[in-house]
Amino acid sequence: MKNIIKKVTFGLIACVVFSTLFSELGESKSKVPAAEQLTFSEVRTNVKPQTIKNKVKFPKEFKQQTSKLIRISNDTIVVDLYAINFAQGELIYAEFYQPVDNKKKSKKSKKNKDTLLLKIVKASIGNFNLTPAEKTWGYRAFYPIAVTAKTGEHILSIEYLSGKDRHIIEGKFEIAVTDFPVFERYLDVGNFSDTGFHQRPENQKLIASSTAKKKEAFGRKSSNLLDSEFSHPRDVIRITSPFGAKRRYLNFRMVDGKRVVSPGRESIHYGLDFAGPADAPVFAIAAGRVVAAQEMFYEGNMIIIDHGNAVFSVYMHMSELKVKEGNMVNSGETIGLVGSTGLATGPHLHLGLRVNGIFVNPLSFLSLPIR
Ligand SMILES: [Zn+2]
Repeated sequence: MKNIIKKVTFGLIACVVFSTLFSELGESKSKVPAAEQLTFSEVRTNVKPQTIKNKVKFPKEFKQQTSKLIRISNDTIVVDLYAINFAQGELIYAEFYQPVDNKKKSKKSKKNKDTLLLKIVKASIGNFNLTPAEKTWGYRAFYPIAVTAKTGEHILSIEYLSGKDRHIIEGKFEIAVTDFPVFERYLDVGNFSDTGFHQRPENQKLIASSTAKKKEAFGRKSSNLLDSEFSHPRDVIRITSPFGAKRRYLNFRMVDGKRVVSPGRESIHYGLDFAGPADAPVFAIAAGRVVAAQEMFYEGNMIIIDHGNAVFSVYMHMSELKVKEGNMVNSGETIGLVGSTGLATGPHLHLGLRVNGIFVNPLSFLSLPIR
């Protein structure tokens, strides 16, 4: 264990955005070493998505966004964090792997084959535990940055084994504010704006069963169903409501056959809306298992696909469902048809991406270099 504050340098540094943390590291007598403080550097700002070569169905006009990469590394580990923006509502894709030099050494060393193998014991960002999934080249993990996430400094901490040696490294990085659009106009969503409509016994029953089903579906703990093939959910792109938008809904109650309007509620849009037409095909954005395919109260005909590692994609308001709960689907497979069931003002697809219980911009998923 080197009790030295390491400053990591890179060939590709555009600018060092995070300062090295200086702290006194005393001689540790316990088996768990003190954390080695490393510096995150913004190493690349226009990383091309690797997924483009694996695309299944993408409309011609769809342009994958480039992502930003920040990296920390030492002699035994490289940590790469990718995001379209390190900002609220975005998804961070993390990779943990051995430095290339180490790999070469481990191949040459026949006596101690295992000494340089990387094993992640624990990885966290702040209080949030990441769930690293093992791949042939190392580990991958996702970190969802909530729309309402605290901005500013965040600390990534990783405990790992390199051979028999236990290490803990820490690095700081920044999460920025996202300016989400605000729609001032109050939306009239017909029956769904009528507070009395929600109170009807049959609707209360459907609200309760929908909530129970979603809880059960999102509680699944599968691993690594996700491969590197991705698809756009539609064959045309026309986004009518962006991710994270603040929207206002009109509320009213019927009194003697007349509408009495009350202060409407404001809500955050936790997905993306793609305009119709009705009955156009909806494609699975990635491979996985269908864990819900049924009518819900607000979501209408809804599909939830479990991609493993606590990643779920959701598809709402469909006129027809083409798959059943339990089905395994491939990226690009038709799972349903565009509709306007549930809380919808017209035919559209609402696409959501839920990672470890938090909804993030689903388009991030289609642009990150996930492997
Ligand atoms: Zn929506």
